[in-house]
Amino acid sequence: MQKVVLITGASSGIGKEAARLLAQSGFRVYGAARRLEQMQDLTESGVRLLKMDVTDEPSMVAGVQEILNAEKRIDVLVNNAGYGSYGSVEDVPLSEARYQLEVNIFGLARLCQLVLPAMRAQRSGRIINISSIGGSFGEPHGAWYHATKFALEGLSDSLRMELKQFNIDVVVIKPGAIVTEWNTIARDNLANVSGKTVYGNLVMKHVKLMERADQQMGSKPEVVAKAIKKAIVASRPRTRYAVGGGAGLVLFMRRILSDRMFDRMYLSLLR
Ligand code: NDP
Repeated sequence: MQKVVLITGASSGIGKEAARLLAQSGFRVYGAARRLEQMQDLTESGVRLLKMDVTDEPSMVAGVQEILNAEKRIDVLVNNAGYGSYGSVEDVPLSEARYQLEVNIFGLARLCQLVLPAMRAQRSGRIINISSIGGSFGEPHGAWYHATKFALEGLSDSLRMELKQFNIDVVVIKPGAIVTEWNTIARDNLANVSGKTVYGNLVMKHVKLMERADQQMGSKPEVVAKAIKKAIVASRPRTRYAVGGGAGLVLFMRRILSDRMFDRMYLSLLR
């Protein structure tokens, strides 16, 4: 039987590559995003499209129901939709901070709630949450993004233990720098929110650092798509996979350096 997969954020970057790879590998894939037009090419690989905004309850309920009506099951949920809200804590309006949490955390949690009754009834399922290496350390000017990824890590650990009794597994993927729309969106946010405030001097250096990281260290989204597939097909997946653009090195540095040493290292990159 073909496994049925729902993947969010399928209109761009990691989600799009993962949707394509999984469909070409024989899964029945439902790709969800707000921009349907950006996903049309995926239909050539057999991906079915869902218009879904992960901050909009009716669109999430309707999307999951459409899959259940057609397939009577959901085997895998890949929570991938997300963006980087950047700017200093002092400058980012709390309305924007709340929206960042809505997209990166509450949307993900709501989709878990919506697919879990079917997964429990099947007594099988897998939830793949796309975190970031940024779920293990903080950067200046990225507090709300990092807060969402730290939250995702903790939520995933809790969920994994809750769901073990139902034979449902939870896996976290931690990408490093990946060349997608993400970097441009985060950089633009940063420059717009804090580029001209008292933080502006350091912030504009940070914008340049993000640009360099994208150009010099960025991996192709296919690298993450392959890790997602591995997490789905493994009979006993690891709880976390760190992949792409500097992921191993940065996590290693975070592990061996003290907080103050890591701060110094990071701030030295913004000189
Ligand atoms: P992209 O910007 O290329 O893609 C993001 C996807 O999320 C788009 O398909 C977008 O679709 C979707 N999305 C954004 N907001 C919403 C929303 N409200 N409702 C539904 N979908 C939404 O970025 P990536 O592919 O790089 O990002 C995918 C994930 O990987 C994110 O969670 C990101 O945090 C994470 N990540 C990325 C890294 C990188 O360097 N690129 C590094 C580490 C983690 P649409 O706008 O059509 O709705």
